Amino acid sequence: MAKLLKGAEAAKALTEQLIARADELKRSGIKPCLAIVRVGERDDDIAYERGAMKRCEKVGIEVRNVLLSIDITQEALIEEIEKINKDNDIHGVLLFRPLPKHIDDAAVCEALAAEKDMDGITRGSLAAIYSGRGEGYAPCTAQSCIEILKHFGIPVAGKRAVVIGRSLVIGKPVSMLLLNENATVTTCHSRSENLPQICREADIIIAAAGKAAMVTKEYVKPGQTVLDVGIHVDDEGNMCGDTAFAEIEPVVDAITPVPGGVGSVTTAILASHVIEAAEKVAK
Ligand code: NAP
Repeated sequence: MAKLLKGAEAAKALTEQLIARADELKRSGIKPCLAIVRVGERDDDIAYERGAMKRCEKVGIEVRNVLLSIDITQEALIEEIEKINKDNDIHGVLLFRPLPKHIDDAAVCEALAAEKDMDGITRGSLAAIYSGRGEGYAPCTAQSCIEILKHFGIPVAGKRAVVIGRSLVIGKPVSMLLLNENATVTTCHSRSENLPQICREADIIIAAAGKAAMVTKEYVKPGQTVLDVGIHVDDEGNMCGDTAFAEIEPVVDAITPVPGGVGSVTTAILASHVIEAAEKVAK
């Protein structure tokens, strides 16, 4: 049986460290503050917002909710972002995407000051991840994968990591973060040939293809660690990931469950980015 890498355990440990750092900031007169910008009323956004607010409250981060109508114009949204950029009391921003179709997503992301971008949506943040100098903030989900590996003491340096997926939100940034941790990284996508064989050669597999249960027993071998980023609802209405969990869990050494794996760490990573941004201001 594989070791279950429960996200809540990693999130709890990180949250405890963040509470101490937030206290330290408050002693120097800085109250860490996150603005959450939500356009419209998407259920997923509202659920994540609730989780983020709970985590921030636990850590001691103030949250300002900027709730905007689905009909907002691009100009008005950019004005809101610029107001936040100028507000010295706000250290970080979470902007829910995708934005409504009449708004140019890229134009709005670029309006955000890179130093307040807590979820790797600006070019500045992505460039910082690629530079590997530890500046900027990676997308929270991508960084959650690294946090889980670190928390559970899974060796990364020198190991072979295979990432399935090359999106800008998960696949590419997590590949760069693994490379920054000195893994030997292979990034796969829908055109990759011999994917099961490539995966069997890995020490660590990150499944982020957005395809329910695609990682079957042909993809794995004993000794591996599998992180499942996918989120789906199966035919019975249960949440599942990109891995055929029941089939590969008996084979591999360690695996994240869905739910309760990678997704449980993201709000703690978001909070850690806000604390880091506030600490930079303090300096
Ligand atoms: P995405 O933008 O759709 O990207 C999927 C990537 O997987 C693409 O690069 C695609 O290749 C590749 N892919 C698709 N089918 C494949 C196949 N059969 N074999 C190999 N590669 C394949 O999705 P995403 O935004 O990165 O999200 C991935 C998953 O993570 C989704 O299930 C999403 O719901 C979930 N997610 C989870 C969290 C969390 O907190 N746990 C947060 C965000 C998203 P091409 O580039 O060639 O098309």
